[in-house]
Amino acid sequence: MRVPVIAGNWKMFKTAGESAAFAKAFLPLVAGVSGVEIVLAPPFPSIAPLAAALSGSGVGVASQNVHFAAEGAYTGEVSPAMVKDAGAAYCIVGHSERRQYFAEDDESVNRKCRAALAAGLTPILCLGETLAEREAGKTFDVVSRQLREGIREIPPAQAPKVILAYEPVWAIGTGKTATPDQAQEVHAFLRARMREIWGDAAAGVRLLYGGSVKPDNIADLMAREDIDGALVGGASLSPDSFARIVKFK
Ligand code: PEP
Repeated sequence: MRVPVIAGNWKMFKTAGESAAFAKAFLPLVAGVSGVEIVLAPPFPSIAPLAAALSGSGVGVASQNVHFAAEGAYTGEVSPAMVKDAGAAYCIVGHSERRQYFAEDDESVNRKCRAALAAGLTPILCLGETLAEREAGKTFDVVSRQLREGIREIPPAQAPKVILAYEPVWAIGTGKTATPDQAQEVHAFLRARMREIWGDAAAGVRLLYGGSVKPDNIADLMAREDIDGALVGGASLSPDSFARIVKFK
């Protein structure tokens, strides 16, 4: 039984004060919701204040990135232990915006995943094809490579601590959601590839869909067998719309 995860990625939005105000408005809207793991990923400076504002609520906090080293001369970077110390229990790794604008590749994504696990964080490993790759019929090759390289050297015993997010790049921030059929097709493919690598442990890995998830499309996506939650960008910025997504049932 995989507990669904609804995670909000705030990208480079919300100050510390705005994050705390979000928590104040959001928590009453989801009071009494059970059976869903809720996660919010604010910018680094808002991790500690958001974690404080959410304290005791069961809503988790994620960083949007981490560096793979524990410490060192890496100006501008933040280590897994530092985000954990600030109150995060999860970290997003390999988001397509990081891959596109900050030259992250499969190797660095893998190093970040392993560093996150070693520090006791749950990595939310993102992967997905661009529009050009989909149109060229390369979707399965691309996500297969990103999965294989992203989880390289992570043993089956650690598989349940990893969350995967399939985010077709053409659906992120565009308002174009993959249809539930399109998403399920890739999720089932990824589940089968995970099984080849991790064996039976693959059955317990949560596989989220991301790409223009909104209150009015979440239920159809969540009804599909291999879709275990969502990574939500734009629609997670408003307490009301994010709460409606969390309450998809
Ligand atoms: C994201 O940032 O991961 C994302 C899926 O964004 P949006 O929901 O805005 O498409």
